Amino acid sequence: MIGVDLGGTRVRAVLSTGTGQILARAEMPTQADQGLEHVLSNIKLTINQVLGLADFSNLVGMAVGAPGPLNPFTGVVFSPPNLPGWSNVPLTAILEKEFHLPVYLGNDANLAALGEYTFGAGKDYRYLVYITVSTGVGGGVIEDGRILQGAKGAAAELGHMTIEYDGPRCNCGNIGCLEILTSGPSIRRRTIELLETGVASKLVDMVGGNLEDITPELIAEAARQGDEAALRIIKETAFFLGVGVTNVLHLYNPEIVVIGGGVSKIGSMLFEPLIEVVHERAMPAFWEGVPIVPTDLGGDIGLYGSIALVLQNYEEARIRKQELAVVGEDEA
Ligand SMILES: [Zn+2]
Repeated sequence: MIGVDLGGTRVRAVLSTGTGQILARAEMPTQADQGLEHVLSNIKLTINQVLGLADFSNLVGMAVGAPGPLNPFTGVVFSPPNLPGWSNVPLTAILEKEFHLPVYLGNDANLAALGEYTFGAGKDYRYLVYITVSTGVGGGVIEDGRILQGAKGAAAELGHMTIEYDGPRCNCGNIGCLEILTSGPSIRRRTIELLETGVASKLVDMVGGNLEDITPELIAEAARQGDEAALRIIKETAFFLGVGVTNVLHLYNPEIVVIGGGVSKIGSMLFEPLIEVVHERAMPAFWEGVPIVPTDLGGDIGLYGSIALVLQNYEEARIRKQELAVVGEDEA
């Protein structure tokens, strides 16, 4: 099977076995600023690189993880903010026509949850919540082994639950969302605001006095060196995430919560206070025996999610592959 991870900066594809063993990889810049046709061409080129190494008769199907909003049922990508020029693109239909393989589509964060459930930290569980904390904050909920989709396939936008009802305005229009409080850019912004009040910090020297050069990675580094200001920001971030995880535990009653994305790499400095907040706030029945852990799959989580989506549709995909082959013959 073939798994594809379409991001705003790069498109990646893998050829894998049914057990998730990756046999080949390809990667290209997405070049999103060059518009729809160019990006579609880059997606096809990337897929062709791994497809060329596959035995077509053994291939079952392909799945693509893409930034939302999108409709996983119809295979249409609406208009993701990081893919300019995209508007109601029937991505699965386009790729099926090109490759004569069944193609499935999923929201990248939902597929990450499915990947973690199938191949990662969640593989011994049936009920899982995944939260990615990166440039944005997203999530996915696995309910008895299936992605919780919602009526339009748009469920589990965990990054846009309100944490601070009178907090800052989020990019989505809502107020005090988990994303606007905990994403990488938000951590950076809060740190700069704190240092502008004159609070002392190693960070000022680390960026030669130019606060605009502060990055989430530098904040984590300063915190590891015991910097009070950086530690304060990370603890605050852990607090917001802890409140978010508390909501998620009460809403979905998962057996495990997995947190991924660049911000999760801060590690125990983030997870320990986060878990403390959860234990203070959530009803014990909801957190007792529920691990809250970093992702097992690192940067490949989206690709594993795509592979997992083909696996979930395995039987249907085999039938549809035969149908698509017949259509291909008719066209020829
Ligand atoms: Zn929001």
